[in-house]
Amino acid sequence: MLELFNTLSRQKEPFEPLHGKEVSLYTCGPTVYDYVHIGNHRTNILGDILKRVLKYNGYKVNHVMNITDVGHLTDDADQGEDKMEKGSKREGKTAWEIADFYTSAFKDDLRDLHILEPSTWCKATDHIDQQIEQVQQLIDRGFTYETADGIYMDTTKVEGYGALAQLDKQELKAGARVDMADKRNPHDFALWKFTKEGESRQMEWDAFGRKGFPGWHIECSAMAMKYLGEQFDIHTGGIDLSRVHHVNEIAQAESATGQTPWVKYWVHGEFLLMGGEKMAKSLGNLMTISALKDEGFDPLAYRYFVLQAHYRKQLNFTKEALEAAQHGLENLRRQVEKLPDRGAHDPMLREAFLNAINDDLNMPEALAVIWKAIKDGNIDKETVIRFDKVLGLKLHDPNKKPLKIPAEVQALLDERQKARDEKNWELSDRLRDQIAEAGFAVEDTPDGQHLSES
Ligand code: AMP
Ligand code: ZN
Repeated sequence: MLELFNTLSRQKEPFEPLHGKEVSLYTCGPTVYDYVHIGNHRTNILGDILKRVLKYNGYKVNHVMNITDVGHLTDDADQGEDKMEKGSKREGKTAWEIADFYTSAFKDDLRDLHILEPSTWCKATDHIDQQIEQVQQLIDRGFTYETADGIYMDTTKVEGYGALAQLDKQELKAGARVDMADKRNPHDFALWKFTKEGESRQMEWDAFGRKGFPGWHIECSAMAMKYLGEQFDIHTGGIDLSRVHHVNEIAQAESATGQTPWVKYWVHGEFLLMGGEKMAKSLGNLMTISALKDEGFDPLAYRYFVLQAHYRKQLNFTKEALEAAQHGLENLRRQVEKLPDRGAHDPMLREAFLNAINDDLNMPEALAVIWKAIKDGNIDKETVIRFDKVLGLKLHDPNKKPLKIPAEVQALLDERQKARDEKNWELSDRLRDQIAEAGFAVEDTPDGQHLSES
């Protein structure tokens, strides 16, 4: 049975969805003001793996991912500039053009990473009515107050506020710096912001008697509710979102409907680090999928790199580690091509794989199961193809024709192997050139020479 670590309870729990074999899943999507980095994609790969594991277990998954194209402010809280307006100024395009451009770049990355598309994409600016409606429900139920700059949630009125982040156990220290502005309590947050006097915004709407725009948190609770109902199964995101954004989504949703819990399982992924620090736009230590492609990396090598670590452990990115992952993936694909088509798998193998993926998505263990089976010679292509539905690594290419090696090239290869065994590197290099002249590239791998058409 599938077990998932639930941030709400801080423990692994058996997965029991609300409605039989149908699973409802919401993932916080990107703020589309710039390219997303591979740290963001570590979290997207987690959502994808979770979805594939659910499908592998026979569940039908209704997956919703939002596109934040308004209201996410540069300080991630209630102050600062709207990231979309900032992107617009930076590039001299409208905020709408910026949103379209980076949404499409984001979707290109997902395709490169072989991340399955959600069942529903939803843009915040297409769902302003739902957000206004939810703010109005919160006003009607007495959870809000108004300041000069917006409508705020009074978190002291929310029973159990902050349980997800265990805020009760980490009360704000006396003297902690919180930009209170006109807020009544440190954790209170904006549901709706008013456009400032004299400010010109491209994205604003008439509501609550003035011009304004939604807070970042209300987007997700309003859209998730529209598509997945008042209660649903799983919500995912990076670990940082579990501390504020998701805490506030819960407060809004549960206060608006009076139903708890809003979400049954919260699954959060740990950070990708670079240079020992969280990969983040604000720190500048970032890398994108398109930059990796420009350097000749296969985006699926990044996917393989990510799968080598458990999602709840921090993972440090280096080019060397990615190169090693690329070699590992290429080697794995080569091994797979050598396997018999079917009929050669150990009956316990599929169970071992299932146990690994169902143990809170233990992908390093799942990969280890495959490598061991390859070494032991008890796996076939059919089984790999089945496992790859979860891994998404394109381990077997059905269109790849077996390489026909002409006899004279095989003779050169044999001669080169002999030269290498004798450490005659000069001869080995000369033979490589001759093999190249015959139209083939030879690569030296830990398990010998590997030939491909050049
Ligand atoms: P942001 O653009 O910061 O709103 O982040 C979008 C998603 O990526 C959220 O789920 C974040 O938690 C996640 N995220 C941001 N930085 C990282 C990182 N370095 N490693 C893993 N996930 C991240
Ligand atoms: Zn969200």
